[in-house]
Amino acid sequence: MTLPRLFKTEAIVLRQRKLGEADRILTLYTPTYGKLDAKAKGVRKTTSRMSGHLQPLTRCMVQLARGRSMEVIAGCQALESFAVIREDLQRLSRALYAAELVDRFVPEHVESHATYHLLLDTLRRLAQALDADSVLRYFEMRLLEHSGFRPELARCLGCERQLQPVTNYFSPGAGGTLCPECAGGTAGPRPLSVNALKVMRLLQRGSYNDMARLQVPPELGQEIERHLRSYIVHVLERDVNAAAFIERLRRDALFETIEV
Ligand SMILES: [Zn+2]
Repeated sequence: MTLPRLFKTEAIVLRQRKLGEADRILTLYTPTYGKLDAKAKGVRKTTSRMSGHLQPLTRCMVQLARGRSMEVIAGCQALESFAVIREDLQRLSRALYAAELVDRFVPEHVESHATYHLLLDTLRRLAQALDADSVLRYFEMRLLEHSGFRPELARCLGCERQLQPVTNYFSPGAGGTLCPECAGGTAGPRPLSVNALKVMRLLQRGSYNDMARLQVPPELGQEIERHLRSYIVHVLERDVNAAAFIERLRRDALFETIEV
């Protein structure tokens, strides 16, 4: 995609890193231009008027000018700062996790209104103090689908038969479910309870409201989280650049990504 010389777009700040003495490079996610890096000049100076509008997770309106190596931010205005999320480490860590997953999954400069709105809806749900785990599981399942990694949950990927209501298996390597006979003896697949399979199918086929109406007991929630997490790790591991992120996923400590 060739970008215009000067353009205005709504964006969510996925992450930021320092550049030189006073600048930052921001990774922005936009509905029309996809993910792109942009330089924010002088934004680390105390006199900067832009810095408050460009914190990670902020939804903002930015004016971008095409630069030699990357876009330069010519102006910006925060639209939603998600202050409620920033005040609560539990919510903040989940929101940063969602932003980082988007950063890892989406390619640069590829339009995707659907994934953009998925991230925005996820941030708004986290801000509303809804059940944060359900919000994230729904986000993960949809992001996998948008990225072309929809897991198979109806049939056995070995023998192609419909799954029976017994304990089946989930195999990250195969990309979905295996029946007990086909999973037998191999190391990768993990047991998938009948209820976990039901909830995962609802995550895949239902709306967020269908999911929100469900009271998922903690143990079941953890089982589903493990299956989805292991699948995400498997998918991202194909990309060596994601290695550091996968380590953080494994340690489950995302607070370190906050740059103060
Ligand atoms: Zn089978």
